[in-house]
Amino acid sequence: MTSTYVHPFREGSKDERALLGGKGANLAEMTRLGLPVPPGFTITTDACRYYMHEGENPPELAAQVATALGEVERDLGRAFGDPADPLLVSVRSGAAMSMPGMLETVLNVGLNDETVRGLAERSGSERFAQDSYRRLLQMFGRTVQGIEGERFEEVMDRTKAERGVATDVELTAEDLRGVVEQFQRIIAEETGAPFPQDPREQLRQSIRAVFDSWNAPRAIIYRNAERISHEMGTAVTVCSMVFGNLDDRSATGVAFTRDPATGQGGVYGDFLVNAQGEDVVAGIRNTRSLPELGEVVPEVYAELTGIMETLEGHYRDLCDIEFTVESGHLWMLQTRVGKRTAAAAFRIATTLVDEGVIDEDEALRRVSGEQLTRLMFPRFDDHAERELVARGLNASPGAAVGEVVFDSESAITQQHEGVATILVRRETNPEDLGGMLAADGVLTSRGGKTSHAAVVARGLGKTCVCGAESLEVDEKNKVIRSGGEVIAREGDLLSIDGSTGEVFRGEVPVVPSEVAQYLAGEVDAEGGDVSDLVASVHRLMTVADRTRRLRVRANADTAEDAARARAMGAEGIGLVRTEHMFLGPRRKHVEDLVLAADDEERQAVLERLLPMQRDDFVGILEAMGTHPVTIRLLDPPLHEFLPDITDLSVKVARSEERGKKGSKRDRRVLAAVRRLHEQNPMLGLRGVRLGLTIPGLYGMQTRAILEAEAHVRRAGGEPHVEIMIPLVSSIRELLEIKRELDAVREEVVGEVGLDLDFRIGTMIELPRAALRADEIAEVAEFFSFGTNDLTQTTWGFSRDDVEAGFFFTYKDRGILLTSPFESIDQYGVGELVRIGAERGRRTNPRLKLGVCGEHGGDPDSIHFFHHVGLDYVSCSPFRVPVARLEAGRATL
Ligand code: ADP
Ligand code: MG
Ligand code: MG
Repeated sequence: MTSTYVHPFREGSKDERALLGGKGANLAEMTRLGLPVPPGFTITTDACRYYMHEGENPPELAAQVATALGEVERDLGRAFGDPADPLLVSVRSGAAMSMPGMLETVLNVGLNDETVRGLAERSGSERFAQDSYRRLLQMFGRTVQGIEGERFEEVMDRTKAERGVATDVELTAEDLRGVVEQFQRIIAEETGAPFPQDPREQLRQSIRAVFDSWNAPRAIIYRNAERISHEMGTAVTVCSMVFGNLDDRSATGVAFTRDPATGQGGVYGDFLVNAQGEDVVAGIRNTRSLPELGEVVPEVYAELTGIMETLEGHYRDLCDIEFTVESGHLWMLQTRVGKRTAAAAFRIATTLVDEGVIDEDEALRRVSGEQLTRLMFPRFDDHAERELVARGLNASPGAAVGEVVFDSESAITQQHEGVATILVRRETNPEDLGGMLAADGVLTSRGGKTSHAAVVARGLGKTCVCGAESLEVDEKNKVIRSGGEVIAREGDLLSIDGSTGEVFRGEVPVVPSEVAQYLAGEVDAEGGDVSDLVASVHRLMTVADRTRRLRVRANADTAEDAARARAMGAEGIGLVRTEHMFLGPRRKHVEDLVLAADDEERQAVLERLLPMQRDDFVGILEAMGTHPVTIRLLDPPLHEFLPDITDLSVKVARSEERGKKGSKRDRRVLAAVRRLHEQNPMLGLRGVRLGLTIPGLYGMQTRAILEAEAHVRRAGGEPHVEIMIPLVSSIRELLEIKRELDAVREEVVGEVGLDLDFRIGTMIELPRAALRADEIAEVAEFFSFGTNDLTQTTWGFSRDDVEAGFFFTYKDRGILLTSPFESIDQYGVGELVRIGAERGRRTNPRLKLGVCGEHGGDPDSIHFFHHVGLDYVSCSPFRVPVARLEAGRATL
């Protein structure tokens, strides 16, 4: 059985991204729409996966490529390798998920010492032919043969210097012929063999290089950062060449159907006359703004804007486009639904609803919780004193302050040390990816809004100012100058504003974003007097709230947190951690509790703690009104509240040295700390085990809760309390505790003369609890999945140790794509959640189910919890809006 690995552009559509890659699929789509696309074909991602697994191409690939190439030759009436009139092609990478600038592309494949003469004759331009040839040698040498790019750039720089010209367009045919000779020499030197003259051999090697680029280090880093699977592989698109470097009526450029930074409608983009391919993105020459193309080639400009309208109408979204003009003739080389900033995403989505292009559900689908998070970041204070030192392009929004670094490595080292940095480069290239990820902001002195730095930063949501041309970035001496004056040296602080393109010396203070203020309930969007960005956010939040089934609660330990959570739209508290109430000045009482010699002493300590706990609960219950509040009884091991064993030992030893006995209390505490010391506290005496071991502890907490409830009721409130028992693994534990709690309830009800009530429930955070959920649900009235501990106990690794330790290795080796503590491991830990939910509900169909781990605020996890049928998620107050939005999106 033979498989089809090669698809001509006229077969295929935009929906076949997985097979054809984004580039191939959209070229096919444009071909079907009748737009001017140079003929070509795409080799499928299947072929790449075959190659990755088998180490060689599928046997039928070569013949299929030859057939498809033959078709292109017939189409164009020109043959590959024909010395008189050669067909040239580009060999382009294209994965299903866009990975801008991460994979390889080789242009002008098919040129050699002979065909270059044919190209010169046919085009009438020797200069153009030599320029194309030197580009092939350069790209082939670098990407296919792995030769250091600098070796070629040096030759270009030297030649320009010798000729006394600033740009490569000023080099003559003669100059370029010299460059070609030198490039060939470099290749022969570096590889030990001359540049392959056989076009088919060039093609074969280029295809292989594109396959290989899938697993280049930078591509792996990018996929890890973007959580893209390493398994998918890239397609390879072979496209007949058109030439933007032919003459002065030729150009190459990039266009957007809307401003990707703000979402505003209009024509945006950059172009260069007499240039090819990557010149625009590489920031080699300063680009011109797209509307000026109308001055160079008016008919082409009109045609292009027409096509842009067609594409936006067809894709019903912002499109980004690569085009080339060859002697006044327009060619479309790429389109895709364009990356955009978070603000643009919200604005575009609601604008398209207003324009009747999409409905509100679709608009909600097109924004994300991650984007909303970005909009909540603070911005620079306009009123603060600040010294503007340069102005560049607002490439990717945000306010970043950090120490200046000039190379990726420094950014990465500083990140490990927790130091914020601004990566400053003349222009970035794909090798800078690691540094861009590590830095807090990126600043370049060259390149437009479509330069590498801008495109990658937008994709990563990283603050970026590019093309700050007044700055002279001296990477060698690690200094930035402007008009001769030193602006900053390595290690100096710089503030960059990616929303305005401004660069400031030193550290500029920040103020909250307007979106954050709106989400915190400080701005009323119904009033109408808000920015259009806040109006868009408000509108989509309303859609999400109307659509979602999951309720959103917050984790809050104090009345202030609870109030903040309420303002952000929390519909209850899913987790009050009572251990936070045992810290600070109250530590001493915990020590007393541990030191108590008998029941009587212990009871006395508990009675001292009682009123403090009660007051804490009153504040929280008041803040939450009638919304449910889930209070978890004491969870962590006691020694966490006691002094550090080493510190205390030293203190006792010191005073003994001085001949004194030291305080008696210190010695007693030390003995207790030693007694309580555990090898694996995480798996030791904590949670319900503590409640069962220290008589009266959980009873005291329950009494405090009930008395608080009574207090709030008397004041006219209607609190809704849920008491949650942590770390349960057996129904017997729960039964014992329930007996104690019920007794306390009866007592307190008798004392206060009010009908107090609470629900009693349990955390499901141990695998055994999930497996025995049917039994546990006989007693528990609700479950809250504690996915942090459930992750630790399911994987058998501790969060702190993993994240500080071998986790990096696991990520690098692709064993884990993301931390299971950030996003729930749906197949393992998630399976236990599913089992727990199912079995619990089998016993009690009305069992309330929630989740209170970090995962409650993570978009992917929220979608998962929606699908397994939980009732609510609980997350930190700050994440509540994100959770509301994603809970809405989960239903779509
Ligand atoms: P990337 O994914 O990095 O954008 P591309 O495959 O799109 O890589 O190609 C890099 C550059 O070369 C782009 O500017 C593209 O427009 C240009 N290019 C690709 N194929 C051709 C072609 N057949 N003719 C002219 N220019 C091309
Ligand atoms: Mg491209
Ligand atoms: Mg826990």
